[in-house]
Amino acid sequence: VTRAHLDRIATEDGDLGAYLHVTADAALQRAGEIDAAGTAGTGLAGIPVALKDVFVTEGVPTTSGSRILEGWRPPYSATVASRLHDAGTVLLGKTNMDEFAMGSSTENSAYRVTRNPWDRDRIPGGSSGGSSAAVAGRLAPFALGTDTGGSIRQPAAVTGLVGHKPTYGSVSRYGLIAFSSSLDQAGPMARTVMDAALLHEAIGGHDPRDSTSIDTRVLAVVEAARRGAGGDLSGLRVGVVRELGGEGAGEGYDTGVLERFAEAVALLEAAGADVREVSCPAFDLALPAYYLIAPSEASSNLARFEGMRFGIRVGDDGSRDIDEVMALTREQGFGPEVKRRIILGTYALSAGYYDAYYGQAQKVRTLISRDFSAAFDGVDVLVSPTSPTVAWPIGARVDDPLAMYAADLCTLPASLAGVPAISVPCGLSEGLPVGLQVMAPALADDRCYRVAAAVE
Ligand code: GLN
Repeated sequence: VTRAHLDRIATEDGDLGAYLHVTADAALQRAGEIDAAGTAGTGLAGIPVALKDVFVTEGVPTTSGSRILEGWRPPYSATVASRLHDAGTVLLGKTNMDEFAMGSSTENSAYRVTRNPWDRDRIPGGSSGGSSAAVAGRLAPFALGTDTGGSIRQPAAVTGLVGHKPTYGSVSRYGLIAFSSSLDQAGPMARTVMDAALLHEAIGGHDPRDSTSIDTRVLAVVEAARRGAGGDLSGLRVGVVRELGGEGAGEGYDTGVLERFAEAVALLEAAGADVREVSCPAFDLALPAYYLIAPSEASSNLARFEGMRFGIRVGDDGSRDIDEVMALTREQGFGPEVKRRIILGTYALSAGYYDAYYGQAQKVRTLISRDFSAAFDGVDVLVSPTSPTVAWPIGARVDDPLAMYAADLCTLPASLAGVPAISVPCGLSEGLPVGLQVMAPALADDRCYRVAAAVE
């Protein structure tokens, strides 16, 4: 299996651009060792996997899609990478991504363009677009991504995959290069709900090395996926979010996306679910709140990249002092979107503007959480389209940051509230995949998997 995927990478990845680094020799060696040891013990033994380049991997180059980390080989591995290793999986390599996970198309990578396997002139989504292209293009059976504002769900949606953002705190962030710490969450991307569930159970659970890790059992999502596959949702109460693809949705949605969404809702009803419309008025404010909170946290997190401890150092020839070397390193090491976010975040956090921007955004975040709580008093899950549009042509939004940000319209509320959300394929529009998003209360990730499996 490992060899077959490496062969496919060798023939396809020059054009597809899913990987930043392929660990071919190490993968073959490890696969051989697992073969020799036999496959007893775990269902994932010998199964290859790809990791987004945001996860640090001991001895394996890790860049987070940025020039500033070029050539860096981490001295340790992320908890999720170690857990996958312990489960017997074989690492195929590290996948491309928007620089520091900032973006929705993978075009902000400092290294290469990644293409959508469904139409190679279109984007694979982002920021986990290398992972989505790898799995959709059969260059990996499944992969890990991270989701801060939609970066697992949106690339999954536009490449016809299942992608799940777990409950915040239920999967370790240790060894995940931080973008926005109160939002970042790792999760599975796969071609079936069951594959995603197997991957999820292998990485989930408490980690004492992550201070925001929830001390709880691993969520039983495999069992939920199995149960859902029967297709019976009788008694389940489903809320269609009025503001997201429902009656009150604003502009910006493809007609085809809204049609597939309506069909998916009809399918849920046919499976026995009790469907009603639910209003979450604060969701309309998720986009502006997110684009203040995430850059604010990023501006603080990215301060650690100063050219002294990791990656590249520019201009250190004895003629410059430390501040000049730092400035030069950052000028050349960070791309334009990362600089834009640092400036935005620094501004929003500065004395005099803090209350007006960051403080306000945090209040909006609370309102969004309250909308979820109120909605979940009456329904078990909420549904919406995952992405308002299908994959767009490469280059179409690169000069328009606001158009790029609009791709996150439907995914941001669950991110800000920390609740779990899955994207599952629900048909095609103009020959391109459309995703259904299923959101559930915190720690009820099993509901996402059950519903996704029922409509898969
Ligand atoms: N597209 C969003 C952003 O650019 C979300 C990215 C993410 O989830 N990592 O911030």
